Amino acid sequence: MVKTPRKRAGPHSALPPGSSPKCRQNWDTPLADTANGIIFPGQRCWARGSSWRDAQVFDWLDEIRTEVYVNVSFRFGTVGSPLATPKKPGGSVGAIVFSRSLGLDALELGWVQAVRVTEETCLAIREAAAAHNVALSVHAPYFINLNADEDEWPRSRKRLMDAAHYGYLAGATDIVFHPGSYFGQERNQVLDRVMRRLEGCLEELRQAGNPVSLRPETMGKSAMVGSLEDVLEMSRLPGVQPCLDFAHLHARTGNGAMNTEDEWARLLEAYGKALGSEALTTLHIHLSGIEYGPKGEKNHLPLAEADLNWKGLFRVLKAFGCGGRILCESPILEEDALVMKQEWEQLSR
Ligand SMILES: [Zn+2]
Repeated sequence: MVKTPRKRAGPHSALPPGSSPKCRQNWDTPLADTANGIIFPGQRCWARGSSWRDAQVFDWLDEIRTEVYVNVSFRFGTVGSPLATPKKPGGSVGAIVFSRSLGLDALELGWVQAVRVTEETCLAIREAAAAHNVALSVHAPYFINLNADEDEWPRSRKRLMDAAHYGYLAGATDIVFHPGSYFGQERNQVLDRVMRRLEGCLEELRQAGNPVSLRPETMGKSAMVGSLEDVLEMSRLPGVQPCLDFAHLHARTGNGAMNTEDEWARLLEAYGKALGSEALTTLHIHLSGIEYGPKGEKNHLPLAEADLNWKGLFRVLKAFGCGGRILCESPILEEDALVMKQEWEQLSR
């Protein structure tokens, strides 16, 4: 499949995509106090600073944003730190180093309870990711609901914005979140509200020079916002793309559907039609086995213990020239991530 590489940023010269003109002005003005920091005082904005190390990190970030257009394939990793991550140095830095040692090259930071990270830690995470070439995303806290009532919404919003702000500082390019619940309300009305709120969040992020993609995840229960149609609708907003959780999509139906190559082919067709075929090369996928009942998801399972025909799914992804990241959410995280990677490599030979 022939891909046209996106225009590459010149070394050390361009802003991350989506940065505001306000940022550009500051970027071009050397500020003495940015040598050791990454944020201009009072601003949520990258500053390239003057150190050689910073320049290296930014070149790497430019590269992971564009590499899939040149060489379409998947990176593999886990959602949350691999289970056997050694205690030292531990944390996200340890998880990055350990992932790389296993042969994994992506990681979704599991900030699922709350965003509790300092800017200093974010710097260390970003540098480790660049040094080990591990592409990062963030799973934002579970307690986000874009359909929350007016009282609750500011707290939900802050969780999403914190994940995006600190995630970006940590070198993550994509912020995955659960969109929320319908609360039994009519879908159009819910989607209207969700889109309006999402648009407001994006506006604020872009004004702050933050170019992360927001990725609403397909959800495993039919009472939750997050059908394929829902996330494609949200992706009409520039800066929003789905996180395709194929286990959830399979469980959501409650009847075992979304488990054949035919169904996945139709899904990818719809995806390409909605977002453009280039978007198929930057997919963000969650994968695991799954147990489900009539109302959908019960719990995640290892691939070998579940009915999901994931090898068939891989064949379809291959046939459609897909690429991006596949993050494993099975209970045996890295073990299954490596099984997936191996299968993909075999298909790619
Ligand atoms: Zn999730």
